[in-house]
Amino acid sequence: MFNDSLLHVAGSSYAWSGKYAVGVYLHEESREAYLFDSGPNWRTAERIDREITNHGYEVAAIVYSHGHSVNTGGSAYFSKRYPHLLSYATRLSAPFIHDPSWLASLSFIPTKSAGTSLQVSERPTILTDMIPYRDDLFEINGIPFTIHTLPGHFSGMIGIQTPDDVLYCADALFGMPTLSRQKLLFFSEPHTAKQSLEKLKTIQASQFVLYHGGVHRTISELIDENISRLDEAYDEVLSLIEQQWQTPENIVQRIMSKYDFENNEKQYELAYSITQAYLAQLLNEGRISRVIRNGLLFYTRDKG
Ligand SMILES: [Zn+2]
Repeated sequence: MFNDSLLHVAGSSYAWSGKYAVGVYLHEESREAYLFDSGPNWRTAERIDREITNHGYEVAAIVYSHGHSVNTGGSAYFSKRYPHLLSYATRLSAPFIHDPSWLASLSFIPTKSAGTSLQVSERPTILTDMIPYRDDLFEINGIPFTIHTLPGHFSGMIGIQTPDDVLYCADALFGMPTLSRQKLLFFSEPHTAKQSLEKLKTIQASQFVLYHGGVHRTISELIDENISRLDEAYDEVLSLIEQQWQTPENIVQRIMSKYDFENNEKQYELAYSITQAYLAQLLNEGRISRVIRNGLLFYTRDKG
């Protein structure tokens, strides 16, 4: 853990070697560092910052790919350490970065005490500017970064390409550490996630950095594996409903069993969210419908 360092990817582009590959762009002329996401917590942020300082740089800006806490958890550290820090995100990610308790407030499992469990950050992160949600150049202090919209894992998620042609893919694509640990992948909108995965295949870059999976020269095989996991889960949920009417709870139970989830609240909530995402897609496509009987909600292939 303590041996984590900045990996040189290409030109001025680097990635944190730890579990989460925070992106770092070191601009030589100004001796300023530009970060893509901020790490999961204060401690990791501090270590990343120490490495950057050892290289002779100061952090000037953070571009957030999306609003999950493992991507934004270092923001309190960097805001405190660098009072003039610039911070950027897309409009859909912004509320989660500004105030991480937003994400917790979306949880459907009541928390024991909302007041104490939400101490994710000491103070809200103030965003300097919004990143328009389109594929385009986005200049920060004159440095031309390229934004690629990659929704599906999280609405409003982006990838960032540096002038060195290194593409930071955020969580649009999962690498082997995640694929070997977790059979069912987290996509909040599977249909859109698949489109983003297909889109990633078409983006030319010299290197790809996966926040969960590190640095890769090619990603086409990983993309295919991500898509096949996504398709499998879609077929699984549909086939359960084809066999018989299913309550949401039944489907979650079958999914947890099929994909070897542990029986704890966190895993249940994850399985529930992913299941809901596939159900929403099947409903949108008109392949299933919902009926209420005796106060219970069922999913069915029958029409209403
Ligand atoms: Zn994420």
